[in-house]
Formats: sequence, C-alpha cells, structure tokens
Amino acid sequence: MKKIIITIDGYSSCGKSTLAKKIAKDLNYVFVDSGAMYRAVTHYFLKNNIDWTKTDQVIDAIKHISLQFEYNAQNGTSDILLNGENVEAAIREMVVNENVSEVAAIKEVREFTVAEQQKNSIEKGIVMDGRDIGTVVFPDAELKIFLTASPEVRVERRYQQLLAQGKQVTREEVRINNEKRDYIDTHREISPLRKAIDAIEIDNTNLTTDEQEKLLLDMAYEKILNN
Ligand code: C5P
Repeated sequence: MKKIIITIDGYSSCGKSTLAKKIAKDLNYVFVDSGAMYRAVTHYFLKNNIDWTKTDQVIDAIKHISLQFEYNAQNGTSDILLNGENVEAAIREMVVNENVSEVAAIKEVREFTVAEQQKNSIEKGIVMDGRDIGTVVFPDAELKIFLTASPEVRVERRYQQLLAQGKQVTREEVRINNEKRDYIDTHREISPLRKAIDAIEIDNTNLTTDEQEKLLLDMAYEKILNN
C-alpha cells in the first residue's frame, strides 16, 4: 500500500503527540515527536550552561549534539536519545517547558533540527507532530492537520498529564506556560506556528481521543487509497 506523510501541527497541549502516536501505530508508520528534539537541545543547553543569547555558543554547542529515537517496548513509542543517553523523562521537566520556546526560536537551532527531521522523509510512512511540520519541514505532505482546542481544555489536559507523571504543578503554572510558549511560537521570526494553507483544522475540544483517531484514520485512508 502507498505510504504517505502525515503532519500534525498546533498550539501547546492540544494532544498532538497523543494522536500522532495512535495513528502511527494504526498505520504501522514511524512517529516523530519534533518537540522532543527542541526539548532535548534545551536540556543540553541548560545542563552545559550554554548562554543561548550568544550565537557562537549556540553554534559550538550544536556541534556536540546528536539526537536519535529509540523504540520503547514498554509503551510502544519511541524515546529520545541525546548523545546516546535516554533523556525522555528529563525533557518533560518544568524547567525545560519554561525555556524551550526561546531555544526553539533560534535560527541555528531550527536549521539543525529541521535537517534532522527531513532525514526521515527518505522513506515515507511518517507521522510527525510539531509547530512547523506542514509549513516548513514537509510542505508537500499528503495529509496536514492543524489541531486546536479551547485554552481551558488544553490546560486541564496538560495538568492531568503532569500530575500523572508525579509532577508538582498548579493549573495556573500550566496556563501561564502554555500562553507563554504559544506567544513565542506564533511570534518568532523563523517558521512561526501557523496553519498551512492546505491543512485541515480539527478542533478537538469536545472529541475523545478515539473519535479523533477515527476521524484522522478515515482521512489518511482516503489519501492512501485515492491519490
Ligand atoms: O510539542 P512540544 O510541546 O513538546 O514542543 C515543545 C516546544 O518546542 C514548543 O513549545 C515549541 O517552542 C518548540 N517546537 C517548535 N517546532 C516544532 C516542535 C516544537 O518550535 N516543530
């Protein structure tokens, strides 16, 4: 069967990764969490005291970063490796949430991560989620989704997710962080978050994960079988 590229972009905490993982599993496609790559770079900068306002420090630091994904048999998805070390848990910490959008706005960082992401397109059969996947990384993707949800629902979902991971956060902290990241992501100069002209918008405020999965799978099969 023909393989396609599916992109899922949208604001923070819309459930992009959850949906992308499910669809990738259903179609037996590779799932790539592009946000994890920006998070891993941010984690590296924080750990190594890189001053990311200084371009020379950024350029030098990037030379020492290698990113890979490794299959995690426990949950059936993939974990990110930073220079061979599994940093999947570390990149979900609040300190990374607080700094990642600033780091992701840096030109040199995006050049590095986008090039890494595009390596995946050599073979199709990919579901990638992020902020600029349908606009910049895979502008020719066969199926592009722009996911939205009400701010309240997004805060609640992220809050519950963090609680389940045992993190000590308040809803207010999550709300402030979502707003800050969305503001930086939509206002940055390089590849700001925006809906691709040919993306299909799905507002999942009142949709269960199963409903979203069915909706997207129908769209995917339509593309796979009729294009
Ligand atoms: O998707 P996630 O919330 O893990 O992404 C973390 C951050 O990485 C986002 O808030 C955004 O600043 C950045 N990002 C990006 N472009 C992408 C994916 C993520 O700028 N394609």
